[in-house]
Amino acid sequence: MNCIVVHYSEIGLKGKNRGFFEHKLVSNIRLALKGLGSLKVSRLHGRILISLGRNREAKGIGERLLKVPGVSYFAFALSAGRDLAGIKKSLAAAAKKEKLKTFAISTMRSDKRFRLTSREINEALGDFIGKKHGWRVNLSKPDMTFFVEVTEQGAFVYTEKIRGLGGLPVTSSGRLLSLISGGIDSPVAAFEMFRRGCSVIFVHFHNQTGQRDIVKDKVDKIVKALSEYQPSTKLYMVPFGDLQKGIIMHIPARYRMIVYRRVMFAIANRIAQREGALGFVTGDSVGQVASQTLENLNVIYEKAGFPVFSPLIGRNKEEIVSIAKDIGTYELSILPYSDCCSFLVAPHPETKGRIEDIRKLEAGLDLDRLVEDALKESELKKY
Ligand code: ATP
Ligand code: MG
Repeated sequence: MNCIVVHYSEIGLKGKNRGFFEHKLVSNIRLALKGLGSLKVSRLHGRILISLGRNREAKGIGERLLKVPGVSYFAFALSAGRDLAGIKKSLAAAAKKEKLKTFAISTMRSDKRFRLTSREINEALGDFIGKKHGWRVNLSKPDMTFFVEVTEQGAFVYTEKIRGLGGLPVTSSGRLLSLISGGIDSPVAAFEMFRRGCSVIFVHFHNQTGQRDIVKDKVDKIVKALSEYQPSTKLYMVPFGDLQKGIIMHIPARYRMIVYRRVMFAIANRIAQREGALGFVTGDSVGQVASQTLENLNVIYEKAGFPVFSPLIGRNKEEIVSIAKDIGTYELSILPYSDCCSFLVAPHPETKGRIEDIRKLEAGLDLDRLVEDALKESELKKY
C-alpha cells in the first residue's frame, strides 16, 4: 500500500457548488490527520488521494478517517501507473500473498480516454490473475474482489472498501449550538448534525453543588470525544445554581422543569447570537420524559428565538443507545453523576404546559438579571 483513495457520496450531487464541498472535505481531512507524519492530500477527479510516501502511520490514519463526516468510503491502495501493464504489476503484488479459490475484478474507469472499457479491463485482468494462480472468476460470491480505479492521473488497485460516516463535510452547512446534558441523547443529537455538515458549539448548564467537578469532568470527556468529528470545538460551561434557587423559590414543583428549560434557552440564545449560530440542537425525543410531550416542547422551544433541531425526535431509546456506542459517547454518558435537572424533577410534573400560565409564573423571576449573571460567570473551553 502506498496511498489511500477516499470517496465521497453526497458532494458528488452538488452541481456548481461541488468545488466548495470538495475543498472543505480536503481541508478537514488534512486537519484530522495532523500529527501523523508528512502526507500529501489532493483532489483527484471525484475522489481524494492521500499519498503515504514513507509514512508508516496507516492504521492511525484509517482510524481518523472513520471520524471525518463526508467520507463515504476509503481504501488502502497500490498506485498502478497509467497503462494495463502497470495495473497488472500492482494487481499481481496485491494478489501475491492471497490463498483463494475464487475472485472477481471490479473496475471503475473515470479516464474515458483509456483505451479499454471497464468491462474489457475486467476481462483482461481476470484472465491474467486467473491463469497466474489457478483461481476461478466468480462474480456473485467471490472469496475476494480486486477493485481497480482508472483515473487520468493513474490507476489504483485495492481489495477492501472501508465505510466512512457519509453525509457532508463539517462547516459546509453553518453553525449550531448544542445544549448538552451529560446524558445519552444530546451527544448523539450533536453527532447527527455533524453528518449534515454543521459545526457544533456546546453549552452545558451546571449547578454549583459538591458534585460540580465530577459533572464538569464528565461533560468535558463527552465533548472531547465529540471534538474528534470536527476541526475545532468550543464548550461553554454556564453556572445554573442561582437560577435554580430562583426557580425553586418562585415556581411550583410541577412546572419547574418547563421553566428551567426555557431559561436555558434564554441564556443559550445570547450565546448563539454571539457565536453566529443559526439554531440549537437538543437530544429531545417525543414522550421520553415529561418535558418532551408535544405540549411542553411547544412551550419550551417558544423561548429559543432560533429554530430548535432535535434529530432524535422520532427515534427510540435502543436506537439512540446503539449510535452512542458506535460514536464512543455511551460509556462516558453512563458514568454516574446527578444532572442539575434531578433536583427539579417533580413527582407529578405537568405534561400539558400552557404558555400563558408559564409566562405568568416566570414574571416572578428576575430573569434578565439572572441571565446576565450566568453569562458573566460562564467559562469557555476550546478543544
Ligand atoms: P439526555 O440524555 O441528553 O440528557 P434526556 O432524555 O435525559 O436527554 P432531558 O434531561 O429532559 O432529556 O433533557 C432534554 C434535552 O435538554 C437534552 O437532550 C439537552 O439537549 C437539554 N439539556 C438538559 N439538561 C441540560 C443541561 N444541564 N445543560 C444543557 N442542556 C441540557
Ligand atoms: Mg438528561
